[in-house]
Amino acid sequence: MEKVINCIDPENNGSSEIGDFVKCVECEKTMITDIGLEHCPLCGEFDKLMWVNDDYREITIKELIKMGYEVIPEIEIRIK
Ligand SMILES: [Zn+2]
Repeated sequence: MEKVINCIDPENNGSSEIGDFVKCVECEKTMITDIGLEHCPLCGEFDKLMWVNDDYREITIKELIKMGYEVIPEIEIRIK
């Protein structure tokens, strides 16, 4: 199952349920991030985030799960 890393910071984003559905061309991770974020929350690079699906630029966690993605918390990536 394809993994999407949940990088949403609810305090910055204003919501923990909806975010930008993007892939970083630098670290090649697929993630859901704070809406409008310009840098990759995982590798810190700017202007490397690309939309995964033009029909779902903003997406909810529930929609991702419904589409068959496994949504995993960012903390699990940092531990490895
Ligand atoms: Zn990155």
